[in-house]
Amino acid sequence: MTLTGNLLIGQRAVTGTQAAIHAIDPATDTPLAPPYAGASAEQLTQACDLAWAAFDAYRETTSEQRAHFLETIAEQIEALGDALIDRANAETGLPKARLLGERGRTCAQLRTFARVVRAGEWLDVRVDNALPERQPLPRPDLRQRQVALGPVAVFGASNFPLAFSVAGGDTASALAAGCPVVVKAHGAHPGTSELVGQAVARAVAKCELPEGVFSLLYGAGREVGIGLVSDPRIKAVGFTGSRSGGLALCQAAQARPEPIPVYAEMSSINPVFLFDAALQDRAESLAQTFVASLTQGAGQFCTNPGLLIARQGPALERFISTAAEHVRQAAAQTMLTPGIASAYANGVAALGENGNARQIASGQPHHGPNQCQAHLFVTSAQAFLADPALKAEVFGATSLVVACDSDEQVRQVAEHLEGQLTATLHLDAADLDCARQLLPTLERKAGRILINGWPTGVEVCDAMVHGGPFPATSDTRGTSVGTAAILRFLRPVCYQDFPDALLPTALQQGNPLHLRRLLDGRREG
Ligand code: NAP
Repeated sequence: MTLTGNLLIGQRAVTGTQAAIHAIDPATDTPLAPPYAGASAEQLTQACDLAWAAFDAYRETTSEQRAHFLETIAEQIEALGDALIDRANAETGLPKARLLGERGRTCAQLRTFARVVRAGEWLDVRVDNALPERQPLPRPDLRQRQVALGPVAVFGASNFPLAFSVAGGDTASALAAGCPVVVKAHGAHPGTSELVGQAVARAVAKCELPEGVFSLLYGAGREVGIGLVSDPRIKAVGFTGSRSGGLALCQAAQARPEPIPVYAEMSSINPVFLFDAALQDRAESLAQTFVASLTQGAGQFCTNPGLLIARQGPALERFISTAAEHVRQAAAQTMLTPGIASAYANGVAALGENGNARQIASGQPHHGPNQCQAHLFVTSAQAFLADPALKAEVFGATSLVVACDSDEQVRQVAEHLEGQLTATLHLDAADLDCARQLLPTLERKAGRILINGWPTGVEVCDAMVHGGPFPATSDTRGTSVGTAAILRFLRPVCYQDFPDALLPTALQQGNPLHLRRLLDGRREG
C-alpha cells in the first residue's frame, strides 16, 4: 500500500497539475510526504464526465449489487490494516484507539447501508391502481418510487478522517441511494484519503461497476471545491466543516443556472440545560461527566457541549467549582490541524477579552505545537441575551455557563439560540414541568433532544437525527448520520398508466421484489 500523491479519476491514478499540499503532522508541525498536487479544471471535468456517464447504469443496479458493493468497500478498508491507522494517526494526531473505533464505525456504517438497500424501504413504493369506473372522472394508474438524484460532491470532514471522510456517512448514503460520488479530500489528511480512495476504487473494479461511480480529487476549496459544486453534472453536495465554508458552497450551488441542494453540517454549540432538582441531587457527578464530554477528542466534535444553562444558586455554584477542578486537571491535547488550533486559540482569546464572560478555569498548559487547553467561562443570562459574540462556536474544549435568574430567563435563553444539532436536559421527576415547558422551543431549535446524557457520541442507527435548523445545517429536513441519510440523495418519480412491461421492477403489478408497498392507501404487511 504505497502512497502516490495521485488523484483517482475513476480507475485512473493521475498526478494533479495544480499547487501541491502536504499533510502536516500536527503533533510535531512537520510536513509528511508525498505531496498532493491539486486537480486542474480539466481533471475535475473528467471526474464529473465519468460520474455522469456512470449514473444511469449505477442507479439501476440491483439492490443486491449495490449492497454487495458497499460491503466490498468495507472489506477493502479493513484489508488496509495498520497502514491506514498509522497514517491517520500521523496526519490528525488522533490516538490510534480512537481511529480503530472510527474505522469500525465506518465499516459498520457501510454494512448498515447495505442492509438498508437490500430491505428496499427507501424506494417508498406507492401504488394507486386505476379506477376506470370512478365518477365523475376515472382515476388513472399511478405509481411512485424514489430515484437517485445524480452524481454527488462529498467534502471530507477534518474531524472524522474515516467516518466522515472519503468513505464516510455522506459517501455511503449517496452510493446506497444510487448516486456516483466525487470526493474533494480534506487537505488535513490526504494520505488517509488516498488509502481509503484506493480501497473504494478496488471495490468498484471487483464489483465490475462503471468506473465513474467514484473519483477522488485534491485541491484548494476555492477552486476544486467551488468547481465541483458548480459543475452541471453534480446534483447534490454533502459537507461537514465550518460555517463560512458551508455557506460558500451553498452560495455557489444557488448561483448555478440549475441550483442544487447542499447538505452542509456547520456550526452548533449544543446547549445543555441543568434543571434545579437534578443539579441539587448530583451537581458534582454532573460536573465530572460534563468535563469528560467537553474534553473528549480535544473537544473537536460537532456535538461538543459548548453551552450550559441553569438557574443560579448554591447548586450551580457547586457544579461550577467541581467542573473547574476537573478542567484544571485536563491534559492539553493535540488538535487536528494548525488552522483548527489557531482558530481555537482565537475563539478562546475573544472570550477572554469579552467583558461579559468570566474565565473560571483553564486546563494543563501546552507542551507541544497545536495543542488545545481546556477552558471554562461563566456569563449571566442578561449578558448572553445582549451579546451575539457569546453565541459563537469555539471548536475545541471550551464551554460557557449561562447563569439565569429565573425559569423565564432559561426559556428566553433557549428562545435566543440559533439552530442546533442537539439540546440536552438534565432533570429529575421534580423538573418535568419545567422541561415540558421548554420542549416546544427545543423542538424548533434542535435535531436531537437528549435526557440525562451528554451529546457527544452519535449512534449510527435508524432513528438517529444528526441535523437541525441553520446554522447546524443548511437544510433542516435531513440527517447526515443514520440510515435516514439516504433520503437526502433521492427524489420521487411518478409513473402514470405505464404498461407493466415498461415499469421499473419495483413498481410492477406482481411486486417481484416483495416490497412493502403503500397499496391503494394501505401499507402492505
Ligand atoms: P473548513 O475550513 O470548512 O473546510 C472543510 C472543507 O471545505 C475543506 O475541504 C475546505 O477546503 C473546503 N472549504 C472551506 N472553505 C471553502 C470555501 N470558501 N469555498 C470552497 N471550499 C471551502 O473546515 P475545517 O478545515 O474542518 O475546520 C475549520 C473550522 O471548521 C474549525 O475550526 C471549526 O470551527 C469548524 N468545524 C466544524 C465542524 C462541525 O462539525 N461543526 C467540524 C469540523 C470543523 P480547503 O481546506 O482547501 O479550504
